[in-house]
Amino acid sequence: MDNKRDYYEVLGVAKNASAADIKKAYRKLALQYHPDKNPGDKAAEEKFKEAAEAYDVLSNEEKRAKYDQFGHNMGPQGFPGGGAGGFGGFSAGGFSMEDIFEQFGDIFGGRYGGTGFGGATGSGRARRRPQRKGSDLRIKVKLTLKEISTGVDKTLKIPTMVQCQHCKGTGAKDGTAFTTCNTCHGTGTVIHTQQTIFGIQQVSSVCPECQGEGKIITTPCPNCHGEGVVKEDTTISFHIPAGVEDGMTLTVPGRGNAARHGGVNGDLLVVIEEIKDAELIRDGQDVIYNLMLDISTAALGGSVEVPTISGRARLKIAPGTQPGKVLRMRGKGLPSPQSSGIGDELINIMVYVPETLNERERAAFESIKNEPNIKATDSVKHRIFSKLKHIFE
Ligand SMILES: [Zn+2]
Ligand SMILES: [Zn+2]
Repeated sequence: MDNKRDYYEVLGVAKNASAADIKKAYRKLALQYHPDKNPGDKAAEEKFKEAAEAYDVLSNEEKRAKYDQFGHNMGPQGFPGGGAGGFGGFSAGGFSMEDIFEQFGDIFGGRYGGTGFGGATGSGRARRRPQRKGSDLRIKVKLTLKEISTGVDKTLKIPTMVQCQHCKGTGAKDGTAFTTCNTCHGTGTVIHTQQTIFGIQQVSSVCPECQGEGKIITTPCPNCHGEGVVKEDTTISFHIPAGVEDGMTLTVPGRGNAARHGGVNGDLLVVIEEIKDAELIRDGQDVIYNLMLDISTAALGGSVEVPTISGRARLKIAPGTQPGKVLRMRGKGLPSPQSSGIGDELINIMVYVPETLNERERAAFESIKNEPNIKATDSVKHRIFSKLKHIFE
């Protein structure tokens, strides 16, 4: 997928192009490279498919936003990375010419619209019935920061509507108990005439008797009661790439519910939920840790243990470390799904001032309180404040 051309470049539009501009640009390319005009021309066919893929993404607000954010890394279906499940939409699912005509047929209008596309596949047959699509499945996956930092393979058992094996998804007993629909004679559509302002017109619509299936089940499949699908726990494995964020939705194409009486499966939508870490606060690719130093360590310096995503780490504290200072542990943050950079861990220094003192402690503070290095003089304040970036001004 790396050598893919930028979708905006494919359509020849600006990044901020309007939906209308995108549609116009796609229409122009689709007509130019249309197989009817370029019979047998493989290069034209590739261009035609490339344009359709670009249009599929850029014409969909959600997909376009994801593409703008993540580029091709997200794959056209909005799933970053790729992996065992074969994410990445078109390459995995196979974006056939027929799909393009079905999906975007309306863009051409008139001549190329609707049934006009029958010719494009070479057979001139009647337009295929719109394929049924099963419903999408939506699941929530909870991830720890550690899982997010490395990416994770998940294998889950999900109750899914799957094709009934007894009737091969047809809903008819043994897959054969059908009779041809008498109303539409198996075509799935009925044609009737209608009086319009342009005169009498022939209008075709889905057959009400068979709902467009062209056949009637005479004996329903006893296993699925004629539905063609049954609910089953399905084991699904997929990869979640490193760096995902809470609320992000990843799409595993074709792993949703099967369609009733055949068709294509819906998608599995994986919604990411980040488990709040007890100590680390996520800030994009960085994580923040509020480190409370005791007053002696802040003054004397030392070494303290801090949590990181990958475990505990030692951190050196310089003598005279001020509250408000931010120490940066480079590369201890999170990767990003769209770039190779890794964030940092930011250590926000706080200093604990004792709230109560016993005799000995009180005496110790009393004994040094007028020493020359204890007082925050004007020049000290000026020097310290100038070093702290986020002080109130
Ligand atoms: Zn069945
Ligand atoms: Zn019918």
